[in-house]
Amino acid sequence: MERFVCTVCGYVYDKEEGDPDNGIEPGTAFEELPDDWVCPECGVGKEDFEPEGAEEEEEEGEEP
Ligand SMILES: [Zn+2]
Repeated sequence: MERFVCTVCGYVYDKEEGDPDNGIEPGTAFEELPDDWVCPECGVGKEDFEPEGAEEEEEEGEEP
């Protein structure tokens, strides 16, 4: 499970979903996104994303 969160608007990039609206196929790891990829919600670059839960305690299990 690889999810990255936009620190500006809270958009979550989910590897499983990709970003089809911007030509990113599902299964594309965040690290594999092109350098010019930007947040579809607010337009910031990859540098403003961070791994989900990086500095937080683990939450309860995910819903199926
Ligand atoms: Zn954003």
